[in-house]
Amino acid sequence: MSNQAFDRMISIIKSFLPSSEKLPSNYYETKKLMKGLGLAYEKIDACSNNCMIYYGSQVNDMQCSICNFPRYKPQVGKGKLVPHKVLRYLPLTPRLQRLYMSSHTAEYMIWCDNYRDSSQMVHPADSEAWKHFDRVHSDFAIDARNVRLGLCTDGFNPNRNNGIPYSCWPVFITVYNLPPSMCMKTPYIFMSLLIHGPKSPTSNIDVFLRPLVDELKVL
Ligand SMILES: [Zn+2]
Repeated sequence: MSNQAFDRMISIIKSFLPSSEKLPSNYYETKKLMKGLGLAYEKIDACSNNCMIYYGSQVNDMQCSICNFPRYKPQVGKGKLVPHKVLRYLPLTPRLQRLYMSSHTAEYMIWCDNYRDSSQMVHPADSEAWKHFDRVHSDFAIDARNVRLGLCTDGFNPNRNNGIPYSCWPVFITVYNLPPSMCMKTPYIFMSLLIHGPKSPTSNIDVFLRPLVDELKVL
């Protein structure tokens, strides 16, 4: 959805609401609100051929160090430089902090500590892999507040109806501290990365996971 379409949609929604409503008026205000809630995202330029991202020591490079593809599209006049491809990265830390900040969710973040193995497989905590992890990393397992995460991704074509080939890959994080009734619900599945197309990242997806891996190392 374009910014203009979002603005029009917001104005229609607002027209149905009472005059005391406090909904943001446009895309810019909504973005500002989200940033204030700690739900902002970072833009990281990437090579159009998925070789590398302009991150860390390569943040100021002007072309791909592997395939030499230029970072930016040809500049028109004195206009702003526009990158060929941009990775959207949504930091995980503020989202996890919010789970512990709210009394509605904080108590469920230690659900696993009281969970007793059921005879059925209803949660990853029932799996042998989980129990093996606890045995091998007992210093991590001893504190129920330590966060256990799952990562999943899949590609889709947002332009499928138009027949335009395009592969977009969102990367999601699931929080397995939460009980089965919560961990697979939308509010607790966090989008961590949005890898735009048109080309699918396929075997180079690890290139795009770098900011997430760096953040997980700090956590
Ligand atoms: Zn490249």
